[in-house]
Amino acid sequence: MITNACHFKTKFGMFDLTLHKRFWWSKGYLALTYGDTASGIPIIRLQSTCLFGTALHSIECDCKRQLNDAFRQIKKHGRGVVVYALEEEGKGNGLEDKIDSMLDKCGHPYLDSLYVLVDKRRYSGAARVLTELSVSKRIHVLTQNEEKCEALRKAGFVIL
Ligand SMILES: [Zn+2]
Repeated sequence: MITNACHFKTKFGMFDLTLHKRFWWSKGYLALTYGDTASGIPIIRLQSTCLFGTALHSIECDCKRQLNDAFRQIKKHGRGVVVYALEEEGKGNGLEDKIDSMLDKCGHPYLDSLYVLVDKRRYSGAARVLTELSVSKRIHVLTQNEEKCEALRKAGFVIL
């Protein structure tokens, strides 16, 4: 359910920001909605929390570029939603495991640390957020991750 909502000014324009929570989600989801997403073919991005990549300037992942790209494309297209999963830091393993994953057994940094983690993310919650927002069932999704598409199809979305 939506617990809080506001208009949210970004450098990409004005979005509607909503916070979605259920008692079995530890932190829930933020959704940033731009334009009329109930009709047409909105652009959808399911984004996982990545404090290091989006706030702390890490160069070990692509999260910030992907997020910026999503905002840019949604703005250009005129309609879309970024669903930001607040509980998926470190591929769903949490910050502690993420930091541990950046070191090998001798305490040296891995070259490609973020791939060490098992991906524990599940996307049904994000699909539910889109349903709560009454987003059109015909969507375009910005992802290379087939699991995201699968979860959205299961929730009744047609990916174009
Ligand atoms: Zn990242």
